[in-house]
Order: sequence, then C-alpha cells, then structure tokens
Amino acid sequence: MKFVYYFGDGQADSAVPQKELLGGKGANLAEMTRLGIPVPPGFTITTEVCTHYMNDDKFPAQLENQVLESLLKIESAMKQKFASTSNPLLVSVRSGARQSMPGMMETVLNVGLTSKTIPGLIKQSDDERFVYDAYRRLITMYSDVVMEKAQNLKPKNGKGIRQELEIILDKYKSNHNYTEDTDLTTEDLKIISELYKTCVEDVLGEIFPDDATAQLWGAITAVFKSWNGKRAETYRRIENIPSEWGTAVNVQTMVFGNMGDTSATGVAFTRNPATGENQFYGEWLANAQGEDVVAGIRTPNPLNQYSRTSESLDLPSLEDINNQIYTVLDKVKTQLEVHYHDMQDLEFTIQKGRLWMLQTRTGKRNGAAAIRIAMDMMDEGLISENEALMRISPKNIDEIMHDTVDPEAEKSALLLATGLPAGPGGATGQIVFTAEDAEKWIQKGKKVILVRNETSPEDIHGMHVASGILTAKGGMTSHAALVARGWGKCCIVGCSALNIDFDNKTLIINDKSLNEGDWVTLNGSLGNIYSGELSLKEPDLEHNQYFKKLMALADRKRKLGIRTNADSPEDAMRARKLGATGIGLCRTEHMFFEPERISAMREMILAHNEASRRKAIMKLLPYQRDDFYGILKAMAPYPVTIRLLDPPLHEFLPHTEEQIENLSHETGINSLEIKSRITTLHESNPMLGHRGCRLGIMYPEITEMQSRAIFEATAKLIKEGEKPFPEVMIPLVGSDTELENQKIIVDQLANDVMQRESITFDYLIGTMIELPRACVTANQIAEYAQFFSFGTNDLTQTTYGFSRDDVGSFMPLYIDSKIINNDPFQSIDELGVGELIKLGVQKGRSTNSKLKIGVCGEHGGDPDSISFFNSIGLDYVSCSPYRVPIARLAAAQATLKSNL
Ligand code: ADP
Ligand code: MG
Ligand code: MG
Repeated sequence: MKFVYYFGDGQADSAVPQKELLGGKGANLAEMTRLGIPVPPGFTITTEVCTHYMNDDKFPAQLENQVLESLLKIESAMKQKFASTSNPLLVSVRSGARQSMPGMMETVLNVGLTSKTIPGLIKQSDDERFVYDAYRRLITMYSDVVMEKAQNLKPKNGKGIRQELEIILDKYKSNHNYTEDTDLTTEDLKIISELYKTCVEDVLGEIFPDDATAQLWGAITAVFKSWNGKRAETYRRIENIPSEWGTAVNVQTMVFGNMGDTSATGVAFTRNPATGENQFYGEWLANAQGEDVVAGIRTPNPLNQYSRTSESLDLPSLEDINNQIYTVLDKVKTQLEVHYHDMQDLEFTIQKGRLWMLQTRTGKRNGAAAIRIAMDMMDEGLISENEALMRISPKNIDEIMHDTVDPEAEKSALLLATGLPAGPGGATGQIVFTAEDAEKWIQKGKKVILVRNETSPEDIHGMHVASGILTAKGGMTSHAALVARGWGKCCIVGCSALNIDFDNKTLIINDKSLNEGDWVTLNGSLGNIYSGELSLKEPDLEHNQYFKKLMALADRKRKLGIRTNADSPEDAMRARKLGATGIGLCRTEHMFFEPERISAMREMILAHNEASRRKAIMKLLPYQRDDFYGILKAMAPYPVTIRLLDPPLHEFLPHTEEQIENLSHETGINSLEIKSRITTLHESNPMLGHRGCRLGIMYPEITEMQSRAIFEATAKLIKEGEKPFPEVMIPLVGSDTELENQKIIVDQLANDVMQRESITFDYLIGTMIELPRACVTANQIAEYAQFFSFGTNDLTQTTYGFSRDDVGSFMPLYIDSKIINNDPFQSIDELGVGELIKLGVQKGRSTNSKLKIGVCGEHGGDPDSISFFNSIGLDYVSCSPYRVPIARLAAAQATLKSNL
C-alpha cells in the first residue's frame, strides 16, 4: 500500500487532488507543484496512516521505508542531505486535515538541526545568527509539541514548557534592553539555545534529542497525535468534523524567512476576507519565520497600499519595498484563484529574495464577504450561477442579519480606542480576560466580550461563546481575526491602546481603567471600542446590493413559495421586506390578551347560555376586524392564512386570587362561581384537550365572530381599492366532518358580508394538518379544503407522542446515545412525520387536484427540512420573518440539488 506521496520540482505522486487521503494542505501543495508554482519539495503521509496509528498505536510496517524513499527524492531535488554534517537539509513537519482546522493541530519547523548539523548549515548559509535563531525556535516547538504534548511529559512547575522558555527569552531581552526578537545577536541566540536545552531537561526531565532522525519521527508521531489533542477535538465538535477522518502529515523542505532582511514570511488573501472586495490583501514580516505573523508578536507590514491599516500606516509594504517579488506573488494569486475558482488564503516565505508558496486553501470569510465574493465571481465568469448559489450557506445569511451598533447611540458614546476591524457587525457585553472565564460567565447567562493580548488555539472554546472578541495585538490575518471570520463573529484585533493586567483582571485603555465585568461595545466594522452597553440595530439589507442580487438569483431558481408566520402588521411588513410573499400562519389567540379584550373573552367563557356568550364575544368583533384589516393590508395582494382560535379556553382565565377578585368585580359574577368554572375547564392533557376546531364546534359563535371580522375587514379594504386575500384556516382537524361543520359557518358569514356590502371577494377555506388521522384521511378532508397547511410542530408531537415542552428531560440522552439522530422539532423526521406528510399530500391531491399545500411549523425555516418539503412537491413553506431570506436560499439550493 502507498502511504507516502511525494511532491517537488513540478511533479507530484498524486495526479489528481485527493483531500480525503492527503488532507487539504497536502493535496494543495501537490496541486500547486503541478501548476508550476514554486513550492519547497516534500511528501505527505496519508490520513490512512493516522487512522491506523489511532487504532493500533503503531505505524504500518512499510511506512519507514516509504518515508526514507521520499526523503531521498527531496535530497536529490535540493542537493542537500538530511542529517548531513556538511550540507544538511531541514524540514518542517506539518499537520493537514481534509477540512482546514487553522492552528488546531501542530507543526514543527527546522527539524534536523543538531550539534552535528549546525556547523554545516552555518557554512552553507554563511549566517550564524540565522542558524541559532532557527535552533531556538526548534527547541521551543519540539519541547512543547513533541515532548510535553505528545509524549505527555509533565512540566515540573505546572507551567507549560513553552511558557517557561518564553520567560527565559523575555528576561534575557529585558536584561539587555531589547524590545524585539530581531535585536538578539548571534551570541545572544547561542546562549539562549543553551539555556533552553537546560531548561527542557530540568522541567520535562528528558534531554532535547540531538539526533536528526529521532527528531523527524518524534515530530511525525506528535503531529498525528495532535489530531486527538484537546483543541482539535473542541474544534471538530463545533465544526462537526468526524473524528474518523484523521490528519495527514506533510514533511517539507524548510525555506527560511529569517535569513536576514531580504527574507520574509507572510499571509495573504486573494480577496479581502472581511468585506469580499476584489483586492489582494495581506501582511508580512521581514526576517521572521512561520507563525510570527499569525501569532501577532510584531505589528505586521502591509502587503500593498490596499492592505494598510491604522496600525501599519508608516510601515513599508512589500509592493513598495520589493516590487519584483510582489509582482510574482500577485501573479501566483491570480493563477490560484482562476484555478480554484474561489478566494484563497495563502502562506508564503521569501528566502533571500526568492518567493516560495507554502500553503493555499479556501479562505475563511464572514457572511457579507461570502455573498459578495460569490456574486462578483459569478459576474467575472469565474463560477456559474448555480455554483454561486451553492457557495452560500444559511449561516452566511444569518450572519449578515446580525445586529450592528446603532449609529445614533454611537454618536454620543465614549470612544475608548480603535483597533483593526477584523470581524464586522456589533457586539456588546461584559469584559472577561480568559477563555475559561468567558465560558463560566456564559453559563451564568451573561453576555461577554473576550479580551486578550492575542488569541491562540487554546482559547477557541471561549471565543466561541463570546459575543465579541477584542485583542491588543495581531493583524488582520492573526488567529483571532481568522477564527472570528470563520464564525461570522464581531472582532477587533491589534488595538495597541489596550494594556491588560491579567493577574488583577483589569485593563487600561487610553488612561481609562476597566475591570472584569465592565460593559463595552464593539463596532467590528470600524474597529471602534466604546465604553458601556450601546444599543444594537438591525442591518440595512435593503441597501446591500450583493444580498439583493443573491436573493433575486435564488428566487429565480426556486420552486417553493416562501411565506411568513406573522401575527401583526409590523411583522408582516418586516417579512415582506425580506421577501415573503404571503402569510402562512397568522395566529389569533394573542389578539385576545389586551386588557379590554381579555375581559370580554372571560365574560364569554363564563357565560351560561348562548345568548350571553354571543353578546360577550361580539364585543371583540371591532378589535378583531381592526387586527385583520391591518394584517391583510400589510400583505395585500398576497394571501394571509388566518388560523381561527386554537388554544384551550382555560388559558384565557385568571390564575391568581387577585385576578379572580377583579374579574368578579368587573362582571358581577361571584368569585366562587369563577373558581368552579376554572376547575371545570381544567384538563389533565391540554394539548389533546378541548382546543382547535373543537372550540368552534362547541361554540360556533367564536367561529362566526372571527369569520365576520375577517370578511368585514376584507370588504373594507376592497372598497379602499386594496386587494386583500384571506385564507381561513381551521385548526386541529382530525376528520372531514369537523371541517365540514366549520366550513358551513365560514361560508355563511362570507356570503352575509358580501350581500350586506354588495361586493364579492375571493377567499379560501382550508385546514391545518397536525394530527396523524388527518394525514391518513386527507382524501376525505380535501373534499372540503382548498388548502392544507402542515402544522409540523404539533404533527411531530402527535406522531411521536412527544410533548415538545417536556422532551428536554430525555432528548439530549436520546441524541447522545443515537436512539434518535436529530431533534425532530428542529429538522423534520423524514421517516416518520415525513411519511405522514407525503401520505397527506398524495391523498389530499387525489381528491382535490387544485389543493394548495404548505408548511407552517418551525420546520418551514430549517434548510434540511425545506429540502425535504421541496422534494415532496409542496407549494410553499412559511417561517418566521427573520428566516425568510434563509428559506429563499435553501429553497433554491434544494431545487438545484434535486436537479443533479
Ligand atoms: P497551520 O496549519 O497551523 O497553518 P502550518 O503547517 O501551515 O500550520 O505551519 C505553520 C507555519 O509554519 C506557517 O506559517 C507556515 O507557513 C510555516 N511553515 C511550514 N512549513 C514550512 C517550511 N517548510 N518552510 C518555511 N515555513 C514553513
Ligand atoms: Mg500552526
Ligand atoms: Mg498554515
């Protein structure tokens, strides 16, 4: 079996991209090599070896030979030898999973430096300082990644070895009055390397290995093991990456960005990942290596004029300083974008004036950028309409609907400082200084802003729960910026005005001091940090041309109609602006709770006979007419499905002694009698009790009043020149006879109003299908219905026999132990509830081919469920106003997927 794949000198063992086997990094290194882009030669050990190692705790027998063979190929390409004393080859050992997990696993650079190879490398490079700089970096990475983390050596003082070494370095620098790592001389670095080795032995109890081959295998093993490291596991859980995938390991010739001032290392995006603008964007550092840019230890230089930030105003750009290399890099950028048809995130290193590419991957971006990039690339002809549509995830849409800081509040707010706008949008919360604290505070139900000097992969759990992230260091390509962007989180980085005292959990920001728990507000689009809790505001989607273009495209491709669930004209207007063309569910029960209404309602419930009941309920008519007038008008000419009264009557009765006394006072009914009525109405299982159409059947006057209100509102609107379209929906029907009973009343009222007002109007009568019996007898019910709307919440409850309000006690266990795959209240249970819906659709249409069918449960806004509803031929889904854009996209994607 082949476990090792070589790439180098324009050739690669893998003829086609194989991410599953080689991981994203390995597959792309091979691909760049094949494209003729300068990539240091190397080889990839497959993900299968990782799986093998995880299962058997050892490597497959052939691995060692295959590694040696590929190493020979590198040696001949580079004309250097691994472990050679005269001309040594150094390598990096890098992780790389199928899906990129930035910084979550380990990488060791400069592998192969030992007391025997050091003199050879000094002779070759003629740069002793560089060699010792590389050496001290190797000791740091190796002792941390291989010895402490993978070999599980326990540091003696409880502090991690990396931290111990950093203390040595910081002390050394301050003793010599150095501020930057670049101030360290050759002699300094030599001394530091010795101090490091002594410290490693002392703290970890083992000697740093002085043998190149031992280093190589130590590093390979450690990188494989990092797949099961804590950070990687957390990240996988958040991103839903299966742990069976495993990581690949890339062993690659080192190129050095730390060989003096003509060397550099950098990170770039082929387009601006914060806005999506089609501009090359990046950061770099001279005389630096590897993670220096991402780790944010120095303020990085801008790649070009466009990349300049408030922090890097006076720093030279690569474009200015070395235009020749910049031009080559810019060409590579274009080549890669054209090849991959997507925005790329690049790593590059310049060794003594020569450019090397070290990584390319699909760049993480926030929702706004994702949409802009997809629309632009479509216009540029780089991708098709369908590809553009499939690129956008529901999460992207969700992100751009996030709040921003209210500009009015912002005007008068106290601006504390400004940093780099790494993750747009607004966030407000109480400051905390560690990821652990962020989690603790969130558990207590608080909103937090996580404040750090810079973030590292160890912080991701805290970053995930925080409303926003703020760092003192790092640039637009730093770890914090990258992670926040991937999650669409508000984030400000590189705010040098921050001075954090972690021991006392306080911070000073431009002379103002803040403590843990103080409120701040971030404007991640501008980089502004404000004191206090500012109000946030909904985003202005109407002026977002890219969003509008995407939605228009989605509308062109989708088959499903998108309606909204709305109970008020305001909600209806909002949803309409977001693209809803109709209301799929307007609930009427909440309309009974305002003070003057609830007393009429209660009077009706307490009434002894029909006459007094009718008198009481008719008091509600004018209110209801106004309600329906508003909502029909807001949606006209689109349809509004109005559901007649649904909940059991006891929900409207008073609960407390005081409320009962008041009611008795208002109505003149004895309070004992009220209490006895409450007792009579009590039900042991209200969900299956006297509710839905059962109310209208027992008390036809309720149906009459509501129908009259609907039709009178309709008549009024028509006279005003509007085109209202009411659809009357009878809830909780289980048999055709129930629907027939109610339909007679509704039709009667419609005729009455038409005659009285001498006009005609269109309306529909239909039912909500939310009982299994209704699905099974849908052919009979459809004889009386012009539409069905599946109430999938109740249908799930009644099909599974789960009470949605009580599943919390066992659902997590059910999901954990895989008794159930998903919460059926979130995504439709296709095998059970879905089958019933299919049956209902098929039977319903068998007797009424014109039957209009939709869904109005929570599932109407869930992309997976939408895909299912599309596949069974429903006419529309209805969801809450804010889900409307997601539903439009999901419906279009469902159509595209079904055409594949
Ligand atoms: P990650 O997945 O965390 O980005 P990488 O494997 O890409 O980890 O490596 C970490 C850093 O080391 C990156 O900045 C990368 O460019 C640098 N690096 C990796 N391999 C080499 C190499 N062969 N020569 C020079 N720099 C390297
Ligand atoms: Mg890394
Ligand atoms: Mg990388």
